[in-house]
Amino acid sequence: MIVYNTLSGQKEEFQPMEQNKVRMFVCGPTVYDVPHLGHAKTYVLFDAFAKYLRHKNFEVQYLQNITDIDDKIIARATEEDTDYKSIAEKYTKIYFEDMKALGVDAVSQYAPATEYIDEIVDQVKRLVDTGHSYFIEGDGYYFDLATFPEYGKLSGRTSQQAEDSISRIDESVNKRNPGDFALWKLFPADAGHEEIGWDSPLGRGRPGWHIEDTAITEKIFGPQYDIHGGGVDIKFPHHEAEIAQQESVSGKSPLAKYWMHVGSLTVNGKKMSKSLGNFVTIKDVLKQISPQAARLYILSGHYRSPLDYNDTLLDQSDAASKRIAGFSARLGQAKGTGNEKPEEYLKEGAEGFYAALNDDFNTPGALGAVFELIRNVNPILVSNELSESQAGSIKTFLNTVHDVLGIIPEPEDQEIPDEILALAEQREEARKNKNWAEADRLRAQIESQSYTISDTPAGPLVSLK
Ligand SMILES: [Zn+2]
Repeated sequence: MIVYNTLSGQKEEFQPMEQNKVRMFVCGPTVYDVPHLGHAKTYVLFDAFAKYLRHKNFEVQYLQNITDIDDKIIARATEEDTDYKSIAEKYTKIYFEDMKALGVDAVSQYAPATEYIDEIVDQVKRLVDTGHSYFIEGDGYYFDLATFPEYGKLSGRTSQQAEDSISRIDESVNKRNPGDFALWKLFPADAGHEEIGWDSPLGRGRPGWHIEDTAITEKIFGPQYDIHGGGVDIKFPHHEAEIAQQESVSGKSPLAKYWMHVGSLTVNGKKMSKSLGNFVTIKDVLKQISPQAARLYILSGHYRSPLDYNDTLLDQSDAASKRIAGFSARLGQAKGTGNEKPEEYLKEGAEGFYAALNDDFNTPGALGAVFELIRNVNPILVSNELSESQAGSIKTFLNTVHDVLGIIPEPEDQEIPDEILALAEQREEARKNKNWAEADRLRAQIESQSYTISDTPAGPLVSLK
């Protein structure tokens, strides 16, 4: 299997540090608000990726942190006139609900930052002892970027840009270098929130954003591990900071062998943001389409590419997932004989599916192979030539597709009569032959009997009007 490694800027053969064992860490959410579709894109992708690695018999330890103490959480607590803990608990609960709804269940362990304060303090102390961190009186401990010349090796840059996700906690006029970031911020830093702060040999305070990840991964994985994932928006400075911290404290490089970054999400072609008023939550999407269709929509684009949210794409994904579900359900009725083609189609479909996933987890390519299999086999199924055992083999393959990608919903209880399905297949044949007049005539005939037909990448979906 090949994956694109952001660290090298190239596709590389995937070979975990320990044979067959994969330790994967993905940056979790900061729990100060409801999760949005960008979160769904990142977490559905790594969920499917972990499931695929397991399908390939890797033993996957998938770890995710939860940032449950942060500037944004504190600001939200002030807004809602409550304490930070209530905010963190409320939005952690919503995060888990939304992930469950999306079928995201591959994570082996969730690690909330506030349960790792001892490890965080210990790592900061070692950074101080080795000269990588300095103290600003009345403020806190900062990482000294001058002590880590490799800073920037992941993202290819060292200075901030407008779109970077930065934290108020890292701001101080007394820093040695402009990019230095907070490791431990002394109490009292947050007006009106006397409850925030942990007593430690560093003084009463709270952790910076970047240090929680490396304290957690060092505790659970050790100083090095196989895969670090996250959204592309936190590659800089967050992931660079993690590398600086952990590689400085351990002297071992690289922190993670493979770095995988998920492309951003746009809404009707524009960046999604609260200020633009185009913020799409996971619940908004699940009101429109099924969780399986939402996963199909997310996986229909390559994970490294940006993905657009628009009604057309959502409708297409919804129709395609229903089409697969309907096809899969009808396989159970196959009783035909005498067609040799399905074996060949299945072989091609499965090969295409695995070849695409083995090439940097190319899910659009893998879905394309599945859609083609369905388009090829459906006419044989409709004309009653598909045998029970052929249908069984195809069903087994579709179950694997579903186990990995999670894209097939329960079929809707809509019995579509065979003669209507046959008309839809005839129309498909006419379209293939560019006989548009005949295709239109067949559509009219289908619609006159109270059915509608929509064209999906997996073939026509017929449903009741
Ligand atoms: Zn992180």
